[in-house]
Amino acid sequence: MDSYVVTYALIGLLALTSAFEIDISQKAYFSWETAFYIGFILSYPTVTVALGGIVAGFILSFRKGKRWLSFLYSYTIICLSSIIAYELSLLTFNRSGQIFHISLLSLVFFAVVYFTANMFFVFLSYYVRFGVDGLVDGAKSIFTGALLGVYGVGILTGYLLALVIHSSGLRGTILFTALILIVSRVYREYFKMAQHFKDLAITDELTRLHNHRYIHTWMDDRIAAEEPFSVLLMDIDNFKRYNELFGHLHGDKALTFLGKLMRSTAREGEQVSRYSGEEFVITIPDVSVEVAEERANAFRKAIEEAEFPGPDQSKKTHITASIGVARYPEMADKKQNLMVAADDALYRIKVAARNRVAVYSTVVEDIRRELDGLDVSEDIINTLELYMQMMNTRDRYTYRHTERNVRYAGKLAERLGLSLDVQRHIRIGAFLHDVGKLQTPIDVLVKRDPLSKEEWDIMRNHVEQGYYMVHEIKSLRPCLDLIRHHHERFDGFGYPHGLKGEKIPFEARIMTIVDSFDAMTTSRPYQRRRTMLEAFDEFDACAGTQFDPALIEPFKEVVREVGILPSEFEEDTAIF
Ligand code: GH3
Ligand code: MG
Ligand code: MG
Repeated sequence: MDSYVVTYALIGLLALTSAFEIDISQKAYFSWETAFYIGFILSYPTVTVALGGIVAGFILSFRKGKRWLSFLYSYTIICLSSIIAYELSLLTFNRSGQIFHISLLSLVFFAVVYFTANMFFVFLSYYVRFGVDGLVDGAKSIFTGALLGVYGVGILTGYLLALVIHSSGLRGTILFTALILIVSRVYREYFKMAQHFKDLAITDELTRLHNHRYIHTWMDDRIAAEEPFSVLLMDIDNFKRYNELFGHLHGDKALTFLGKLMRSTAREGEQVSRYSGEEFVITIPDVSVEVAEERANAFRKAIEEAEFPGPDQSKKTHITASIGVARYPEMADKKQNLMVAADDALYRIKVAARNRVAVYSTVVEDIRRELDGLDVSEDIINTLELYMQMMNTRDRYTYRHTERNVRYAGKLAERLGLSLDVQRHIRIGAFLHDVGKLQTPIDVLVKRDPLSKEEWDIMRNHVEQGYYMVHEIKSLRPCLDLIRHHHERFDGFGYPHGLKGEKIPFEARIMTIVDSFDAMTTSRPYQRRRTMLEAFDEFDACAGTQFDPALIEPFKEVVREVGILPSEFEEDTAIF
Protein backbone atom coordinates (compact mmCIF):
# COMPACT_ATOMS: atom_id res chain seq x y z
CA MET A 1 0.00 0.00 0.00
CA ASP A 2 1.34 3.43 -0.88
CA SER A 3 2.19 5.30 2.24
CA TYR A 4 0.55 8.53 1.08
CA VAL A 5 -2.77 6.66 0.74
CA VAL A 6 -2.46 5.60 4.36
CA THR A 7 -1.65 9.16 5.39
CA TYR A 8 -4.64 10.59 3.52
CA ALA A 9 -6.87 7.87 4.86
CA LEU A 10 -5.84 8.64 8.42
CA ILE A 11 -6.40 12.38 7.94
CA GLY A 12 -9.82 11.77 6.38
CA LEU A 13 -10.94 9.35 9.05
CA LEU A 14 -9.80 11.63 11.87
CA ALA A 15 -11.62 14.56 10.30
CA LEU A 16 -14.77 12.50 9.96
CA THR A 17 -14.81 11.08 13.47
CA SER A 18 -13.78 14.33 15.13
CA ALA A 19 -17.28 15.56 14.33
CA PHE A 20 -18.66 12.75 16.47
CA GLU A 21 -17.31 13.40 19.92
CA ILE A 22 -19.51 12.09 22.70
CA ASP A 23 -19.94 14.17 25.85
CA ILE A 24 -19.80 11.84 28.78
CA SER A 25 -19.86 14.45 31.47
CA GLN A 26 -19.00 18.10 31.76
CA LYS A 27 -15.32 17.27 32.07
CA ALA A 28 -14.99 14.16 29.94
CA TYR A 29 -15.76 13.58 26.35
CA PHE A 30 -14.99 10.63 24.22
CA SER A 31 -13.47 10.92 20.78
CA TRP A 32 -12.14 8.22 18.54
CA GLU A 33 -8.72 9.54 17.59
CA THR A 34 -6.94 7.38 20.17
CA ALA A 35 -8.43 4.31 18.48
CA PHE A 36 -7.33 5.45 15.02
CA TYR A 37 -3.78 6.32 16.02
CA ILE A 38 -3.33 3.02 17.82
CA GLY A 39 -4.93 0.99 15.02
CA PHE A 40 -2.73 2.68 12.44
CA ILE A 41 0.54 2.64 14.38
CA LEU A 42 0.15 -1.09 14.94
CA SER A 43 -0.35 -1.61 11.20
CA TYR A 44 1.63 0.96 9.21
CA PRO A 45 5.10 2.54 9.32
CA THR A 46 5.63 5.04 12.09
CA VAL A 47 6.63 7.95 9.85
CA THR A 48 3.50 7.57 7.73
CA VAL A 49 1.24 7.61 10.77
CA ALA A 50 3.10 10.50 12.42
CA LEU A 51 2.75 12.59 9.29
CA GLY A 52 -0.98 11.87 8.96
CA GLY A 53 -1.52 12.61 12.64
CA ILE A 54 0.30 15.93 12.62
CA VAL A 55 -1.34 17.19 9.43
CA ALA A 56 -4.79 16.16 10.75
CA GLY A 57 -4.03 17.97 13.99
CA PHE A 58 -3.21 21.20 12.16
CA ILE A 59 -6.23 21.03 9.87
CA LEU A 60 -8.68 20.27 12.64
CA SER A 61 -7.26 22.87 15.00
CA PHE A 62 -8.43 25.58 12.59
CA ARG A 63 -11.99 24.74 13.51
CA LYS A 64 -11.39 25.27 17.21
CA GLY A 65 -10.98 29.05 17.14
CA LYS A 66 -9.21 30.40 20.19
CA ARG A 67 -8.66 26.96 21.64
CA TRP A 68 -6.64 25.80 18.66
CA LEU A 69 -3.34 25.57 20.46
CA SER A 70 -4.51 23.38 23.32
CA PHE A 71 -6.41 21.26 20.81
CA LEU A 72 -3.29 20.82 18.70
CA TYR A 73 -1.34 19.93 21.81
CA SER A 74 -3.74 17.23 22.88
CA TYR A 75 -3.83 15.87 19.34
CA THR A 76 -0.09 15.77 19.18
CA ILE A 77 0.31 14.02 22.51
CA ILE A 78 -2.03 11.22 21.46
CA CYS A 79 0.02 10.78 18.33
CA LEU A 80 3.30 10.94 20.26
CA SER A 81 2.11 8.59 22.99
CA SER A 82 1.09 5.92 20.51
CA ILE A 83 4.42 6.20 18.72
CA ILE A 84 6.34 5.94 21.99
CA ALA A 85 4.25 2.96 23.11
CA TYR A 86 4.81 1.22 19.81
CA GLU A 87 8.53 1.79 19.62
CA LEU A 88 9.08 0.80 23.25
CA SER A 89 7.07 -2.35 22.76
CA LEU A 90 9.18 -3.29 19.80
CA LEU A 91 12.36 -2.68 21.77
CA THR A 92 11.18 -4.54 24.84
CA PHE A 93 9.89 -7.61 23.04
CA ASN A 94 12.78 -7.54 20.65
CA ARG A 95 10.82 -8.19 17.51
CA SER A 96 10.56 -6.46 14.25
CA GLY A 97 7.26 -5.78 12.53
CA GLN A 98 3.82 -5.93 13.98
CA ILE A 99 3.82 -6.45 17.71
CA PHE A 100 0.11 -6.81 17.65
CA HIS A 101 0.21 -10.49 16.80
CA ILE A 102 2.68 -11.39 19.43
CA SER A 103 1.17 -11.83 22.86
CA LEU A 104 -1.31 -10.57 25.38
CA LEU A 105 1.59 -9.36 27.50
CA SER A 106 2.85 -7.06 24.77
CA LEU A 107 -0.64 -5.62 24.40
CA VAL A 108 -0.83 -4.90 28.11
CA PHE A 109 2.64 -3.40 27.96
CA PHE A 110 1.63 -1.21 25.04
CA ALA A 111 -1.49 0.02 26.88
CA VAL A 112 0.44 0.86 30.04
CA VAL A 113 3.13 2.76 28.16
CA TYR A 114 0.53 4.60 26.11
CA PHE A 115 -1.36 5.69 29.21
CA THR A 116 1.81 6.68 31.08
CA ALA A 117 3.18 8.71 28.19
CA ASN A 118 -0.14 10.40 27.74
CA MET A 119 -0.36 11.30 31.42
CA PHE A 120 3.17 12.62 31.34
CA PHE A 121 2.34 15.08 28.56
CA VAL A 122 -0.97 16.04 30.13
CA PHE A 123 0.65 16.80 33.48
CA LEU A 124 3.46 18.61 31.78
CA SER A 125 0.96 20.99 30.26
CA TYR A 126 -0.80 21.45 33.62
CA TYR A 127 2.52 22.20 35.22
CA VAL A 128 3.54 24.72 32.59
CA ARG A 129 0.18 26.49 32.73
CA PHE A 130 -0.78 26.37 36.42
CA GLY A 131 2.31 25.33 38.39
CA VAL A 132 2.33 22.70 41.12
CA ASP A 133 -1.23 23.48 42.28
CA GLY A 134 -2.42 22.79 38.75
CA LEU A 135 -0.82 19.35 38.95
CA VAL A 136 -2.84 18.41 42.03
CA ASP A 137 -6.12 19.72 40.65
CA GLY A 138 -5.40 18.08 37.30
CA ALA A 139 -4.70 14.73 38.93
CA LYS A 140 -7.98 14.97 40.85
CA SER A 141 -9.96 15.63 37.71
CA ILE A 142 -8.23 12.96 35.63
CA PHE A 143 -8.32 9.97 37.90
CA THR A 144 -12.06 9.55 37.72
CA GLY A 145 -13.86 6.40 36.66
CA ALA A 146 -15.32 8.01 33.55
CA LEU A 147 -12.00 9.27 32.27
CA LEU A 148 -10.12 6.05 32.88
CA GLY A 149 -12.96 4.25 31.11
CA VAL A 150 -12.51 6.55 28.14
CA TYR A 151 -8.85 5.55 27.91
CA GLY A 152 -9.69 1.86 28.16
CA VAL A 153 -12.29 2.02 25.40
CA GLY A 154 -9.98 4.05 23.15
CA ILE A 155 -7.10 1.59 23.45
CA LEU A 156 -9.24 -1.53 23.01
CA THR A 157 -10.97 -0.08 19.97
CA GLY A 158 -7.52 0.69 18.56
CA TYR A 159 -6.55 -2.98 18.91
CA LEU A 160 -9.78 -3.97 17.21
CA LEU A 161 -9.04 -1.60 14.33
CA ALA A 162 -5.55 -3.08 13.99
CA LEU A 163 -7.15 -6.52 13.62
CA VAL A 164 -9.51 -5.22 10.97
CA ILE A 165 -6.68 -3.54 9.06
CA HIS A 166 -4.62 -6.69 9.32
CA SER A 167 -7.30 -8.86 7.74
CA SER A 168 -8.83 -6.47 5.21
CA GLY A 169 -6.74 -3.30 5.00
CA LEU A 170 -8.22 0.15 4.48
CA ARG A 171 -11.49 -1.24 3.09
CA GLY A 172 -12.16 -2.88 6.43
CA THR A 173 -11.32 0.40 8.10
CA ILE A 174 -14.06 2.16 6.22
CA LEU A 175 -16.66 -0.36 7.44
CA PHE A 176 -15.24 -0.10 10.91
CA THR A 177 -15.51 3.70 10.80
CA ALA A 178 -19.09 3.54 9.59
CA LEU A 179 -19.94 1.36 12.56
CA ILE A 180 -18.22 3.73 14.91
CA LEU A 181 -20.11 6.70 13.54
CA ILE A 182 -23.44 4.96 14.03
CA VAL A 183 -22.55 4.00 17.57
CA SER A 184 -21.42 7.56 18.26
CA ARG A 185 -24.62 8.99 16.95
CA VAL A 186 -26.79 6.69 19.07
CA TYR A 187 -24.74 7.30 22.17
CA ARG A 188 -24.77 10.99 21.66
CA GLU A 189 -28.56 10.97 21.65
CA TYR A 190 -28.52 8.77 24.69
CA PHE A 191 -26.20 11.06 26.64
CA LYS A 192 -28.19 14.09 25.63
CA MET A 193 -31.31 12.44 26.92
CA ALA A 194 -29.61 11.38 30.14
CA GLN A 195 -28.37 14.93 30.64
CA HIS A 196 -31.83 16.27 29.97
CA PHE A 197 -33.37 14.03 32.63
CA LYS A 198 -30.59 14.91 35.02
CA ASP A 199 -31.32 18.61 34.49
CA LEU A 200 -35.02 18.03 34.96
CA ALA A 201 -34.40 16.27 38.24
CA ILE A 202 -32.53 19.23 39.70
CA THR A 203 -34.43 22.11 38.12
CA ASP A 204 -37.55 23.85 39.29
CA GLU A 205 -39.99 23.98 36.45
CA LEU A 206 -41.63 27.32 37.16
CA THR A 207 -38.56 29.43 37.83
CA ARG A 208 -35.87 27.41 36.02
CA LEU A 209 -33.75 27.75 39.14
CA HIS A 210 -32.26 24.78 40.95
CA ASN A 211 -34.74 22.91 43.07
CA HIS A 212 -34.92 21.82 46.69
CA ARG A 213 -33.22 18.49 46.01
CA TYR A 214 -30.28 20.11 44.25
CA ILE A 215 -29.54 22.62 46.95
CA HIS A 216 -29.70 19.97 49.66
CA THR A 217 -27.24 17.78 47.79
CA TRP A 218 -25.00 20.79 47.24
CA MET A 219 -24.99 21.57 50.97
CA ASP A 220 -24.46 17.91 51.91
CA ASP A 221 -21.41 17.73 49.66
CA ARG A 222 -20.04 20.96 51.01
CA ILE A 223 -20.52 19.92 54.63
CA ALA A 224 -19.02 16.48 53.96
CA ALA A 225 -15.92 18.25 52.63
CA GLU A 226 -16.03 20.66 55.60
CA GLU A 227 -15.95 23.64 53.27
CA PRO A 228 -17.52 26.82 54.62
CA PHE A 229 -20.45 28.51 52.94
CA SER A 230 -23.27 30.92 53.67
CA VAL A 231 -26.96 30.28 53.29
CA LEU A 232 -29.39 33.02 52.33
CA LEU A 233 -32.97 32.01 53.04
CA MET A 234 -35.32 34.35 51.23
CA ASP A 235 -39.08 34.64 51.60
CA ILE A 236 -41.27 36.94 49.54
CA ASP A 237 -43.10 39.51 51.66
CA ASN A 238 -46.89 39.35 51.78
CA PHE A 239 -47.14 37.03 48.84
CA LYS A 240 -50.48 35.69 49.99
CA ARG A 241 -51.84 39.17 49.51
CA TYR A 242 -50.20 39.43 46.08
CA ASN A 243 -52.01 36.27 45.03
CA GLU A 244 -55.27 37.57 46.38
CA LEU A 245 -54.89 40.84 44.53
CA PHE A 246 -53.75 39.56 41.15
CA GLY A 247 -54.69 35.90 41.15
CA HIS A 248 -52.64 32.79 41.67
CA LEU A 249 -51.71 32.48 38.01
CA HIS A 250 -50.24 35.92 38.02
CA GLY A 251 -48.43 35.04 41.23
CA ASP A 252 -46.81 32.19 39.33
CA LYS A 253 -45.76 34.61 36.62
CA ALA A 254 -44.14 36.81 39.23
CA LEU A 255 -42.23 33.79 40.51
CA THR A 256 -40.98 33.01 37.02
CA PHE A 257 -39.88 36.60 36.58
CA LEU A 258 -38.22 36.51 39.99
CA GLY A 259 -36.32 33.37 38.95
CA LYS A 260 -34.87 35.17 35.97
CA LEU A 261 -34.01 38.21 38.05
CA MET A 262 -32.22 36.13 40.66
CA ARG A 263 -30.26 34.23 38.05
CA SER A 264 -29.00 37.46 36.56
CA THR A 265 -28.17 38.88 39.99
CA ALA A 266 -26.21 35.79 41.04
CA ARG A 267 -22.45 35.77 40.71
CA GLU A 268 -20.31 32.90 39.67
CA GLY A 269 -20.31 30.17 42.29
CA GLU A 270 -23.56 31.30 43.91
CA GLN A 271 -26.26 28.66 43.76
CA VAL A 272 -29.81 29.93 43.51
CA SER A 273 -32.68 27.60 44.20
CA ARG A 274 -36.41 27.63 44.75
CA TYR A 275 -36.68 26.03 48.14
CA SER A 276 -40.44 25.80 48.41
CA GLY A 277 -43.47 27.76 47.18
CA GLU A 278 -42.21 31.31 47.56
CA GLU A 279 -39.05 30.63 49.50
CA PHE A 280 -35.64 30.65 47.90
CA VAL A 281 -32.22 29.55 49.06
CA ILE A 282 -29.00 31.04 47.77
CA THR A 283 -25.73 29.49 48.83
CA ILE A 284 -22.41 31.28 48.62
CA PRO A 285 -19.16 29.40 49.07
CA ASP A 286 -16.29 30.67 51.21
CA VAL A 287 -16.97 34.40 51.68
CA SER A 288 -17.18 36.00 55.13
CA VAL A 289 -20.52 36.58 56.77
CA GLU A 290 -20.21 40.30 56.04
CA VAL A 291 -19.86 39.66 52.33
CA ALA A 292 -22.76 37.21 52.46
CA GLU A 293 -24.86 39.92 54.08
CA GLU A 294 -23.83 42.35 51.36
CA ARG A 295 -24.81 39.85 48.69
CA ALA A 296 -28.14 39.27 50.42
CA ASN A 297 -28.73 43.00 50.28
CA ALA A 298 -27.84 43.03 46.60
CA PHE A 299 -30.52 40.40 45.93
CA ARG A 300 -33.02 42.20 48.13
CA LYS A 301 -32.38 45.47 46.36
CA ALA A 302 -32.53 43.98 42.89
CA ILE A 303 -35.99 42.63 43.73
CA GLU A 304 -37.15 45.85 45.35
CA GLU A 305 -36.15 47.89 42.32
CA ALA A 306 -37.39 45.53 39.63
CA GLU A 307 -40.65 46.14 37.85
CA PHE A 308 -42.63 42.94 37.79
CA PRO A 309 -45.06 42.35 34.94
CA GLY A 310 -48.47 43.64 36.00
CA PRO A 311 -51.90 42.17 35.30
CA ASP A 312 -52.03 44.26 32.13
CA GLN A 313 -49.17 45.50 30.00
CA SER A 314 -49.17 49.08 31.18
CA LYS A 315 -49.16 48.44 34.92
CA LYS A 316 -46.08 47.10 36.61
CA THR A 317 -46.10 45.62 40.10
CA HIS A 318 -43.52 45.53 42.85
CA ILE A 319 -42.44 42.84 45.23
CA THR A 320 -40.14 42.83 48.22
CA ALA A 321 -38.43 39.97 49.99
CA SER A 322 -36.71 39.35 53.30
CA ILE A 323 -33.55 37.31 53.72
CA GLY A 324 -32.08 35.48 56.70
CA VAL A 325 -28.36 34.73 56.56
CA ALA A 326 -26.39 32.00 58.34
CA ARG A 327 -22.95 30.55 57.80
CA TYR A 328 -21.50 27.07 58.07
CA PRO A 329 -19.62 26.09 60.18
CA GLU A 330 -19.63 28.91 62.77
CA MET A 331 -23.36 29.19 63.27
CA ALA A 332 -24.32 25.57 62.91
CA ASP A 333 -22.51 22.28 62.58
CA LYS A 334 -25.23 20.48 60.65
CA LYS A 335 -27.37 21.32 57.67
CA GLN A 336 -30.58 21.12 59.61
CA ASN A 337 -29.33 23.51 62.27
CA LEU A 338 -27.99 25.83 59.62
CA MET A 339 -31.42 26.06 58.00
CA VAL A 340 -32.99 26.64 61.42
CA ALA A 341 -30.48 29.43 62.01
CA ALA A 342 -31.25 31.12 58.68
CA ASP A 343 -34.95 30.67 59.39
CA ASP A 344 -34.51 32.20 62.84
CA ALA A 345 -32.90 35.26 61.31
CA LEU A 346 -35.64 35.48 58.68
CA TYR A 347 -38.31 35.07 61.31
CA ARG A 348 -36.90 37.93 63.29
CA ILE A 349 -37.30 40.24 60.29
CA LYS A 350 -40.78 39.06 59.56
CA VAL A 351 -42.05 39.81 63.05
CA ALA A 352 -40.53 43.26 63.10
CA ALA A 353 -40.58 44.56 59.54
CA ARG A 354 -40.08 43.32 55.99
CA ASN A 355 -37.83 43.97 52.99
CA ARG A 356 -34.75 43.47 55.17
CA VAL A 357 -31.73 41.27 55.61
CA ALA A 358 -30.72 39.79 58.96
CA VAL A 359 -27.76 37.70 59.95
CA TYR A 360 -28.37 34.96 62.46
CA SER A 361 -27.26 35.72 65.94
CA THR A 362 -28.16 33.96 69.12
CA VAL A 363 -29.31 35.63 72.28
CA VAL A 364 -26.09 34.30 73.74
CA GLU A 365 -24.11 36.37 71.27
CA ASP A 366 -26.29 39.42 71.86
CA ILE A 367 -25.79 39.09 75.59
CA ARG A 368 -22.08 38.62 75.18
CA ARG A 369 -21.99 41.86 73.25
CA GLU A 370 -23.98 43.60 75.97
CA LEU A 371 -21.63 42.25 78.60
CA ASP A 372 -18.72 43.55 76.60
CA GLY A 373 -20.14 47.01 77.16
CA LEU A 374 -20.08 46.51 80.93
CA ASP A 375 -17.11 46.52 83.16
CA VAL A 376 -17.06 42.76 83.63
CA SER A 377 -13.84 40.92 84.22
CA GLU A 378 -12.54 38.15 81.97
CA ASP A 379 -13.20 35.63 84.74
CA ILE A 380 -16.84 36.43 84.87
CA ILE A 381 -17.26 36.36 81.13
CA ASN A 382 -15.74 32.89 81.24
CA THR A 383 -18.14 31.78 83.94
CA LEU A 384 -21.09 33.10 82.00
CA GLU A 385 -19.86 31.46 78.84
CA LEU A 386 -19.67 28.23 80.71
CA TYR A 387 -23.24 28.77 81.81
CA MET A 388 -24.30 29.39 78.24
CA GLN A 389 -22.54 26.28 77.07
CA MET A 390 -23.94 24.16 79.83
CA MET A 391 -27.39 25.39 79.11
CA ASN A 392 -26.90 24.65 75.47
CA THR A 393 -25.60 21.15 75.99
CA ARG A 394 -27.63 20.23 79.04
CA ASP A 395 -30.77 20.74 77.09
CA ARG A 396 -31.53 22.68 74.03
CA TYR A 397 -35.14 23.21 75.02
CA THR A 398 -34.11 25.31 77.94
CA TYR A 399 -31.83 27.27 75.73
CA ARG A 400 -34.70 28.12 73.41
CA HIS A 401 -36.89 28.95 76.37
CA THR A 402 -34.28 31.40 77.63
CA GLU A 403 -33.89 32.84 74.19
CA ARG A 404 -37.61 33.54 73.90
CA ASN A 405 -37.71 35.02 77.39
CA VAL A 406 -34.97 37.49 76.54
CA ARG A 407 -36.80 38.62 73.42
CA TYR A 408 -40.20 39.05 75.09
CA ALA A 409 -38.73 40.74 78.15
CA GLY A 410 -36.66 43.08 75.99
CA LYS A 411 -39.70 44.02 73.91
CA LEU A 412 -41.88 44.63 76.93
CA ALA A 413 -39.22 46.80 78.56
CA GLU A 414 -38.99 48.77 75.33
CA ARG A 415 -42.75 49.21 75.10
CA LEU A 416 -42.93 50.41 78.69
CA GLY A 417 -40.51 53.16 77.73
CA LEU A 418 -37.87 52.21 80.28
CA SER A 419 -34.43 53.75 79.97
CA LEU A 420 -31.93 51.99 77.70
CA ASP A 421 -29.88 51.01 80.74
CA VAL A 422 -32.82 49.39 82.46
CA GLN A 423 -33.84 47.68 79.24
CA ARG A 424 -30.40 46.18 79.00
CA HIS A 425 -30.44 44.94 82.59
CA ILE A 426 -33.81 43.37 82.02
CA ARG A 427 -32.49 41.50 78.98
CA ILE A 428 -29.41 40.29 80.81
CA GLY A 429 -31.53 39.48 83.85
CA ALA A 430 -33.92 37.46 81.71
CA PHE A 431 -30.96 35.60 80.35
CA LEU A 432 -29.64 34.84 83.82
CA HIS A 433 -32.89 34.50 85.72
CA ASP A 434 -32.52 30.76 86.26
CA VAL A 435 -28.76 30.61 86.64
CA GLY A 436 -29.26 29.34 90.20
CA LYS A 437 -30.63 26.10 88.81
CA LEU A 438 -27.09 25.14 87.97
CA GLN A 439 -26.84 24.37 91.71
CA THR A 440 -30.07 22.37 91.80
CA PRO A 441 -29.53 18.61 91.66
CA ILE A 442 -30.41 17.30 88.22
CA ASP A 443 -32.73 14.55 89.55
CA VAL A 444 -34.91 17.18 91.17
CA LEU A 445 -34.89 19.32 88.04
CA VAL A 446 -35.98 16.57 85.68
CA LYS A 447 -38.29 14.66 87.98
CA ARG A 448 -41.65 14.06 86.34
CA ASP A 449 -43.49 12.76 89.42
CA PRO A 450 -44.78 15.24 91.99
CA LEU A 451 -42.02 16.66 94.15
CA SER A 452 -41.87 16.02 97.90
CA LYS A 453 -41.84 18.96 100.29
CA GLU A 454 -38.05 18.79 100.62
CA GLU A 455 -37.61 18.64 96.91
CA TRP A 456 -39.83 21.68 96.46
CA ASP A 457 -37.70 23.56 98.94
CA ILE A 458 -34.59 22.64 97.01
CA MET A 459 -36.23 23.65 93.78
CA ARG A 460 -37.39 27.00 95.11
CA ASN A 461 -34.01 27.73 96.47
CA HIS A 462 -32.69 28.33 92.96
CA VAL A 463 -33.68 31.99 93.11
CA GLU A 464 -31.49 32.56 96.18
CA GLN A 465 -28.69 30.51 94.66
CA GLY A 466 -28.86 32.67 91.54
CA TYR A 467 -28.80 35.76 93.69
CA TYR A 468 -25.61 34.67 95.46
CA MET A 469 -23.90 33.65 92.26
CA VAL A 470 -24.54 36.92 90.46
CA HIS A 471 -24.06 39.02 93.60
CA GLU A 472 -20.33 38.52 93.22
CA ILE A 473 -20.36 40.42 89.93
CA LYS A 474 -20.56 44.10 90.62
CA SER A 475 -21.65 45.24 87.20
CA LEU A 476 -24.49 42.72 87.13
CA ARG A 477 -25.99 43.83 90.42
CA PRO A 478 -28.81 45.75 88.72
CA CYS A 479 -30.06 42.32 87.54
CA LEU A 480 -30.25 40.90 91.05
CA ASP A 481 -33.82 41.92 91.87
CA LEU A 482 -35.14 40.22 88.77
CA ILE A 483 -33.24 37.02 89.49
CA ARG A 484 -34.23 36.80 93.11
CA HIS A 485 -37.89 37.82 92.84
CA HIS A 486 -39.21 36.46 89.59
CA HIS A 487 -41.24 33.84 91.47
CA GLU A 488 -43.01 36.33 93.74
CA ARG A 489 -46.77 36.67 93.24
CA PHE A 490 -48.65 39.94 93.15
CA ASP A 491 -50.90 38.72 96.02
CA GLY A 492 -47.90 37.98 98.22
CA PHE A 493 -48.04 34.17 98.07
CA GLY A 494 -44.92 33.68 95.97
CA TYR A 495 -41.36 33.00 96.99
CA PRO A 496 -38.69 33.55 98.26
CA HIS A 497 -39.86 36.52 100.35
CA GLY A 498 -43.60 36.61 99.82
CA LEU A 499 -43.43 40.23 98.69
CA LYS A 500 -46.71 41.79 97.70
CA GLY A 501 -47.83 44.19 94.96
CA GLU A 502 -45.60 47.16 94.30
CA LYS A 503 -43.10 45.85 96.84
CA ILE A 504 -42.02 43.33 94.27
CA PRO A 505 -39.29 44.92 92.17
CA PHE A 506 -40.62 46.10 88.84
CA GLU A 507 -38.20 44.05 86.72
CA ALA A 508 -39.18 40.90 88.56
CA ARG A 509 -42.88 41.54 87.84
CA ILE A 510 -42.00 41.79 84.15
CA MET A 511 -40.06 38.55 84.32
CA THR A 512 -42.94 36.70 86.01
CA ILE A 513 -45.29 37.54 83.17
CA VAL A 514 -42.80 36.69 80.43
CA ASP A 515 -41.70 33.45 82.02
CA SER A 516 -45.26 32.30 82.62
CA PHE A 517 -46.34 33.14 79.09
CA ASP A 518 -43.61 31.01 77.60
CA ALA A 519 -44.43 28.16 79.98
CA MET A 520 -48.08 28.33 78.96
CA THR A 521 -47.49 28.46 75.23
CA THR A 522 -45.00 25.61 74.99
CA SER A 523 -46.06 22.07 75.74
CA ARG A 524 -44.80 20.50 78.89
CA PRO A 525 -44.96 16.90 79.99
CA TYR A 526 -47.78 17.77 82.34
CA GLN A 527 -49.87 20.14 80.27
CA ARG A 528 -50.72 20.81 76.67
CA ARG A 529 -49.61 23.94 74.90
CA ARG A 530 -52.03 26.85 75.10
CA THR A 531 -52.86 29.20 72.28
CA MET A 532 -52.11 32.88 72.50
CA LEU A 533 -55.72 33.72 73.35
CA GLU A 534 -55.94 31.00 75.98
CA ALA A 535 -52.78 32.40 77.54
CA PHE A 536 -54.33 35.87 77.50
CA ASP A 537 -57.43 34.51 79.29
CA GLU A 538 -55.18 32.97 81.89
CA PHE A 539 -53.49 36.33 82.42
CA ASP A 540 -56.87 37.99 82.88
CA ALA A 541 -57.96 35.30 85.31
CA CYS A 542 -54.80 35.74 87.38
CA ALA A 543 -54.53 39.53 87.18
CA GLY A 544 -53.89 40.82 90.65
CA THR A 545 -53.26 37.39 92.14
CA GLN A 546 -50.26 36.08 90.27
CA PHE A 547 -49.55 38.98 87.91
CA ASP A 548 -49.28 42.73 88.08
CA PRO A 549 -52.52 43.86 86.36
CA ALA A 550 -50.84 47.00 85.01
CA LEU A 551 -48.41 44.95 82.94
CA ILE A 552 -50.89 42.60 81.32
CA GLU A 553 -52.18 44.89 78.57
CA PRO A 554 -48.75 46.10 77.44
CA PHE A 555 -47.52 42.53 77.33
CA LYS A 556 -50.51 41.43 75.25
CA GLU A 557 -49.66 44.16 72.78
CA VAL A 558 -46.08 42.92 72.58
CA VAL A 559 -47.25 39.38 71.92
CA ARG A 560 -49.72 40.52 69.29
CA GLU A 561 -46.90 42.29 67.53
CA VAL A 562 -44.19 39.67 67.91
CA GLY A 563 -46.43 36.60 67.77
CA ILE A 564 -45.63 33.36 69.53
CA LEU A 565 -41.96 32.74 68.97
CA PRO A 566 -41.39 29.33 67.46
CA SER A 567 -40.63 26.59 69.93
CA GLU A 568 -39.38 24.22 67.24
CA PHE A 569 -40.14 21.09 69.22
CA GLU A 570 -43.46 19.37 69.70
CA GLU A 571 -42.88 18.89 73.35
CA ASP A 572 -40.86 21.56 75.01
CA THR A 573 -39.47 19.93 78.10
CA ALA A 574 -37.76 22.97 79.57
CA ILE A 575 -36.54 22.25 83.05
CA PHE A 576 -35.54 25.78 83.85
P1 GH3 B 1 -44.75 37.09 54.79
O1 GH3 B 1 -44.35 38.47 54.45
O2 GH3 B 1 -44.93 36.89 56.25
O3 GH3 B 1 -43.87 36.07 54.18
O4 GH3 B 1 -46.22 36.93 54.17
P2 GH3 B 1 -46.67 35.90 53.09
O5 GH3 B 1 -48.05 36.23 52.68
O6 GH3 B 1 -45.68 35.83 51.99
O7 GH3 B 1 -46.68 34.59 53.92
P3 GH3 B 1 -45.96 33.22 53.57
O8 GH3 B 1 -44.53 33.40 53.40
O9 GH3 B 1 -46.45 32.22 54.55
O10 GH3 B 1 -46.60 32.99 52.13
C1 GH3 B 1 -47.02 31.81 51.64
C2 GH3 B 1 -47.92 32.16 50.49
O11 GH3 B 1 -47.21 32.14 49.26
C3 GH3 B 1 -49.00 31.15 50.32
C4 GH3 B 1 -49.32 31.19 48.89
O12 GH3 B 1 -50.38 32.09 48.68
C5 GH3 B 1 -48.10 31.77 48.23
N1 GH3 B 1 -47.44 30.76 47.39
C6 GH3 B 1 -46.65 29.76 47.78
N2 GH3 B 1 -46.25 29.03 46.73
C7 GH3 B 1 -46.78 29.59 45.62
C8 GH3 B 1 -46.74 29.30 44.22
O13 GH3 B 1 -46.11 28.36 43.76
N3 GH3 B 1 -47.43 30.12 43.38
C9 GH3 B 1 -48.14 31.18 43.85
N4 GH3 B 1 -48.78 31.94 42.98
N5 GH3 B 1 -48.20 31.47 45.16
C10 GH3 B 1 -47.55 30.70 46.04
MG1 MG C 1 -43.22 31.60 53.03
MG1 MG D 1 -43.77 35.12 52.28
